[in-house]
Parts: sequence; structure tokens; C-alpha cells
Amino acid sequence: MKPYLKRAWAEVSLDKLKKNISIIRSLNSPGTDIMAVVKADAYGHGYERVVCCLAEECGIKYFAVSNLDEAIAVREYCPEAEILILGYTPPEYAHEISEYNIIQGVVSTEYAEDLCRNSPGTVRCHVKIDTGMGRIGLRYDRPEDCAREIADMTKIERLSVEGIYTHFAVADSDSPDNIAYTDKQERFIIDTYDALADMGIRLPHLHFMNSAATCYRNSSRSTLSRAGIIIYGLHPDVSLEIPEGLEPVMELKAVISQVKTVPAGTCISYGRTFTAPEEMRVATVTIGYADGYSRLLSSKGEILVHGKRCRIVGRVCMDQLMIDVSGVPEAKSGDIVTLIGRDGDEMITADDLASVYGTIGYEVVCGISKRVPRIYFES
Ligand SMILES: *Cc1c(COP(=O)(O)O)cnc(C)c1O
Repeated sequence: MKPYLKRAWAEVSLDKLKKNISIIRSLNSPGTDIMAVVKADAYGHGYERVVCCLAEECGIKYFAVSNLDEAIAVREYCPEAEILILGYTPPEYAHEISEYNIIQGVVSTEYAEDLCRNSPGTVRCHVKIDTGMGRIGLRYDRPEDCAREIADMTKIERLSVEGIYTHFAVADSDSPDNIAYTDKQERFIIDTYDALADMGIRLPHLHFMNSAATCYRNSSRSTLSRAGIIIYGLHPDVSLEIPEGLEPVMELKAVISQVKTVPAGTCISYGRTFTAPEEMRVATVTIGYADGYSRLLSSKGEILVHGKRCRIVGRVCMDQLMIDVSGVPEAKSGDIVTLIGRDGDEMITADDLASVYGTIGYEVVCGISKRVPRIYFES
């Protein structure tokens, strides 16, 4: 293992990543390939090693990213892969889209024309349809009308339309109302695809499954499952179980820098929001909000020390925080603590942490900052 500063670090298990991929494969129909969503530095896991592992060891051929910089970064490691940009690329960079053989998500005819005007080479695209997310894409009341615009787009010079796709807003919910909403979204994109086929336009790709849909409403009509969060072993929504065997890939660790016994009445951290009610042992831990460990966890979060849960006392600082280790007499300076991950019988996941301060696991892992080195394990 490469040496690194043992202060605050994230351990990423490539073995668990590979296991998760094989489970996701088993959920999909034979005709559905995985499009690994590796935007935002592979959801904070570090795209280089993740992408190489996915491409070389898992045989992943499709990747999705949020922007051109991410696409070019993935291209460097995967000369053969198909890379789809889900978000916006300024048209003036269209020549790079074709130069790097990247596929752009296209949201309107006007945008497609802008791209082609700015590129001497062919611009490959998948057309995004807004079937109910209300974010980006063509918006129509009737699939036939939507299909007609796409059919016209196929005539744009130097534009290669290779697929259509949409994004679900509530596929991570099991309420009947939300299920009906997603049914409608799915129906619309499938009907659009079929209307195009009726016009003689048979696109190679039609895709609409995100992680939630891959888990809860897998469809053989989707040629790709754009799996993001489940690759990393987290929940699309914590209220629904994810398929057996999927496991979080990342753990977050830090170190105890000092342990002190303090008398009753001692104030801990900024703002004096915590005062020791009795004599207690307080440990200082080498991680803070600048590492992406949210300040919203002040006096709320728990950290594992020698397999025991220890509460954060007082405010989380930029680089440090304090915990109550009164129940862990063996805790001492230099000990490794677990902020996300397993220690003995106890486990704290990014999803658990997210619930403590009212967000989702996605934001927790994406928020772990650059300062935190990612360390990779094969097992
Ligand atoms: C981020 C994203 C995904 C992946 O979502 P998960 O919930 O992480 O699976 C899929 N499609 C689009 C368009 C996205 O923006």
C-alpha cells in the first residue's frame, strides 16, 4: 500500500465494487447492459481507480458522467468505452465531444444544431426526454409529437442520434401514487421509442433505469441501466431495502489525537454548545467539516471507537472534532476511529450519517473532500 498521511482517509474496497457489479448484472435482463454512473469523481470514491476497475476487471463498456471534463478524464483510462455526458456542454466545446468520441445528452433541436455548428466532426448524441423529472429534455404531451421532433433531429447534418433516454423522479418510492407516476414516465419513453420505430427509425438505445428502477422495476426494454448509487452499495432511498449482497464500498477513518479527562462544567468546542455534565473522557479526532464531515453532525453524530459508538460532543470544527469516550477506557492517542464503516459488531453507513442530518447518502459520499486521500483495497 502506498504510504499516506494517517489523519483522515477513505478506504475504498474494489472487491466490494466488483461484487456489487455482479449483483447488479444479475438483476438486469440479458439485453440490458450496465452504464456505470461515475459523475462527481465516482460519487466521491475517486474516478481513476473506480473506472479502471470497472472497465478492466468488470468489463463495463458504458459510463455516464456529468460534464465534458469528467468525460475526457474517463476517456484517458478507457479508450474503448462509450461515455455519455448527462449534463450540459457549452456548444463552443462541441469539437471536443467529437474529438474524444463522446456521446452528448441533447435536450432540444436548437441545442443539437448549436453543437453541430461548433464541430467539424460528427456529434454523437442520446436525446433526453423530460417525462416528468422537470429538469432537462424535450417535453411533450404526446409521444408521437416527441417522436416527430426526434425524427427531424436525425436529419441534422453531422448529428448522430443513437438513443433516447429519460430520468425517473420517484422510482425510489413504493407509494401507489409514485409508482403510477413512474409507470407513466416509462410508458411515455417506450411509446416514443416505438413511434420512432414505426417511422423506420430504430435507435440502438432506449434507457430509463437508474439505481432505483434497476432494483425495484427492472425492465428488459431499457438497453442500459444507468446505475449510480447502488454500484457504491448505498440506497437510492433508505426506506426501501436494496438487493441482498450489495455493500457499501467506502469507509471513512480518522485518528484520535488526544484523550483528556475533563471535570464537570468543562466547555467543549466553539460556541460552548456542550458542557460536560459530569467528569468525562473526551477524545479529539482528526477530521472536520473541511474534510466533508458535516458541521450539521455537531453533538449529533456518532463515531466508532474500538467497536463502540461514541457521541460527538460540541461543534464539529474545520479540521477536528471531539467525542465522548467515557465508555471506552482503552481509547488513546493514535487509535484509528471509524466515521463510516464497520468496527466489530457496529456499523455506520453513509446512509445512516445522512439520516442524522437530513440528507441522503449520495451527498455524504460526494461531499468527502479532496483533502481526504482515497486508499484502495483489493479485498
Ligand atoms: C445521477 C444520474 C443517474 C444515476 O442515479 P442513481 O440514483 O445514483 O442510480 C442516472 N441517470 C441520470 C440522468 C443521472 O443524472
